[in-house]
Amino acid sequence: MGVVVRVSGPVVQADGLTGAKMFDVVRVGGLGLLGEIIRLVGETATVQVYEDTTGVRPGDPVENTNQALSVELGPGLLKSIYDGVQRPLDVLKENLGDFITRGFVAPALDEKKRWDFVATAQVGSEVSPGAILGTVQETPLILHTIMVPPGVHGTLEALSSGSFTIRDSIGSIRTAAGVQPLTLSQRWIVRIPRPVQQKLAPGIPLLTGQRVIDTFFPVAKGGTACIPGPFGSGKTVIQQQLAKWADSDVVVYVGCGERGNEMTEVLATFPNLRDPKTNRPLMERTILIANTSNMPVAAREASVYTGITIAEYYRDMGYDVALMADSTSRWAEAMREISGRLEEMPGEEGYPAYLGRRVAEFYERAGRVVTLSPEGRPGSVTVVGAVSPPGGDFSEPVSQNTLRVARVFWALDAALASRRHFPSINWLLSYSLYVGDIEAWYQSEVGKDWARLRQKALETLQKEAELQEIVQLVGVDALPEREKAILDVARMIREDYLQQSAYDEIDTYTSIRKQYRMLKAILDYGDREQEALQKGATVNQLQKLPVRSKLSRMKWVLEKELGPSFDSLELEVNQAVGSAAGAT
Ligand code: ADP
Repeated sequence: MGVVVRVSGPVVQADGLTGAKMFDVVRVGGLGLLGEIIRLVGETATVQVYEDTTGVRPGDPVENTNQALSVELGPGLLKSIYDGVQRPLDVLKENLGDFITRGFVAPALDEKKRWDFVATAQVGSEVSPGAILGTVQETPLILHTIMVPPGVHGTLEALSSGSFTIRDSIGSIRTAAGVQPLTLSQRWIVRIPRPVQQKLAPGIPLLTGQRVIDTFFPVAKGGTACIPGPFGSGKTVIQQQLAKWADSDVVVYVGCGERGNEMTEVLATFPNLRDPKTNRPLMERTILIANTSNMPVAAREASVYTGITIAEYYRDMGYDVALMADSTSRWAEAMREISGRLEEMPGEEGYPAYLGRRVAEFYERAGRVVTLSPEGRPGSVTVVGAVSPPGGDFSEPVSQNTLRVARVFWALDAALASRRHFPSINWLLSYSLYVGDIEAWYQSEVGKDWARLRQKALETLQKEAELQEIVQLVGVDALPEREKAILDVARMIREDYLQQSAYDEIDTYTSIRKQYRMLKAILDYGDREQEALQKGATVNQLQKLPVRSKLSRMKWVLEKELGPSFDSLELEVNQAVGSAAGAT
């Protein structure tokens, strides 16, 4: 048993912790506040405490649990709302009301609930980490695979199907070190990535049904993306669209002490979202981790690790998981505050010198991998981190360190949002470094000329930006018809393609096949338009063609009518624009 010698906000120094190790979890003071050793010199430990330390005084006891900060992984994770150290918020609330009593210990998973476990592994067989022991239908949407925990090799001595709680024994493995009992759950240390066989190169897009993302700035499965979120620019809507529509199986949302009321909003709205493909509650494949603003900063620091560890666990079952962290700026601020209390040498803007390394380590836990399972199931964790730099200033350290590691940047733009251009992702400032990696996928699955179309659309928008500068000086009438036509097509790309309403039943999601047909229709129109101009037609004249209004209604073509609708649209573009040229 150690004793407190000094208290500085969430950081407590303790003496006399014989045998303590870095990252051991300790219980501080009479209330047993949860803390973690983050620095150790001899027997003197510096502890970051995940609860309010008011009232803790020198001389108070500190008890070492001799265990590193870990999460419990098993059936019952889905639908849960946790705090940063995996305490279920609903259980806390039910027991304690809004004022969470400090030192409260609640099991992360319901210990009483019974699950129907179907054993599939053969008793007597040799098993290794990641091997499937059996399954539990965790929710109607997700089959939960019960796996041999990392580090355990041996002979499966016993295993039975039946109705079990997460504490019941379901069997055992004989290992070199003795008999390892098996339950439906396992633990993992949050600060250590769960092991995999191999990381795979990114080659498959995480399709989101959002045209500006899938077409222009795609993220790969297992990739990393960053969204800045000036207030009111549509960050919340984008995140919800991703949670609902991205072709990931499981969603982990980490709300990192964003402005207090925003977190409350997430807690209020997420549980009401529906999974559009099944019309079941989205929570049946979601886990929320929420640091409300009344929780101390240290819990925020831990929350992203709690979240990514849970994400890795579902990845290990072979699922594609999307993890969203909002916002990593608040997470970094927590790091800064703790570092300040530790009196560490500050780096840029008071952030600790290891900020960049921590940010990189976190994003590096994303990836598409071959899991440990003997049959080499693939799985992925895609990480989408939001940054919210104060005053929207991207030169500050958190944004810079994030941009260095995240390979996609969706530049949400308040100016676009105020013009009601949604999603307000600025096409001139955003980028994706996965385009080359996933081009082959697009070419074989979508269309051979995919890369060319994408490139051409982006060039048209860039050209538009250049021409607009000229137009501001001399007016649009001074431009030659050829350039007016570029502005015309660019406007179609912006309004008829990039603008997409999250609230429209049809427009909210566009399959990649439909995206291809839409983009091709606009760009083909552009080509025909240039040809017609050569023959003497004018942009003004072409804009009045009835086929133009059809092009602007492509968004609302139903997926099931895709083929015939677009075939006839293409035909009509060719005929109408061709004959308009002939008529002059
Ligand atoms: P933020 O979280 O950045 O403050 P929100 O995501 O709440 O902003 O978006 C603000 C408003 O913008 C929303 O209430 C909605 O009216 C509009 N909006 C944002 N994105 C879209 C979208 N994709 N489609 C339609 N409207 C949107």
